[in-house]
Amino acid sequence: MKIDILAIGAHPDDVELGCGGTIAKLISEGKTCAIIDLTKGELGTRGTEHTRKTEAENAAAILGVTARENLGFKDGFLVNSEEYQLEIVKIIRKYRPEIVLSNAIDDRHPDHAKASKLVSDACFLSGLIKIKTQLNGSDQEAWRPKHIFNYIQWKNIEPEFVIDISEHLDQKLKACAAYKTQFYNADSAEPITPIATKDFFESLTYRAQDLGRLSGVTYAEGFTSEKLIALKNFDGIVL
Ligand SMILES: [Zn+2]
Repeated sequence: MKIDILAIGAHPDDVELGCGGTIAKLISEGKTCAIIDLTKGELGTRGTEHTRKTEAENAAAILGVTARENLGFKDGFLVNSEEYQLEIVKIIRKYRPEIVLSNAIDDRHPDHAKASKLVSDACFLSGLIKIKTQLNGSDQEAWRPKHIFNYIQWKNIEPEFVIDISEHLDQKLKACAAYKTQFYNADSAEPITPIATKDFFESLTYRAQDLGRLSGVTYAEGFTSEKLIALKNFDGIVL
């Protein structure tokens, strides 16, 4: 099952918040995308892992991804262990993406930066032919994604490039709002958390708008890149 883009997040909702507009846009252009959640978000203050699972399925349907899997790692205690690396290697070899989108390289939630390093290391290891893995009893072939791009989450990180999501911000916001227990809901009796405030939900739009202002589009999502990006030419640049 080869796909073009594999988007990975420490918690169900990280991908929607960080790069939901980019995924919606790429899928609308004919690319295939799958989402991998590393944990079930079981330590989240609001909701339960069960409500979160349903919300993640609804969000995936809104974005139109090909597949979504949860690896069931331990929320809050992500470690860059051989065990976790090999589980991600199996996923990379299963989907064989050219591009991996992954958590912010530095953030308020400690799992985010840990996930970014864990995924980066797994992408490298996945390309080593002497690391043997199996899926459903069959040997897997080595595969190394060509690029890892890290989306931006709570902290303001200076992006190295942005994707114009002007036509897909609404779809992103709908996918985020699918996490009904996690984000702002005036009728909820659950404790208010930093991401459950009205301001946080509005920040999804005002950050996209500000990155759009700086880049000359209406709305944008920003990314950093592990390696220097080479453009084939200037055709993909919004003029
Ligand atoms: Zn998260």
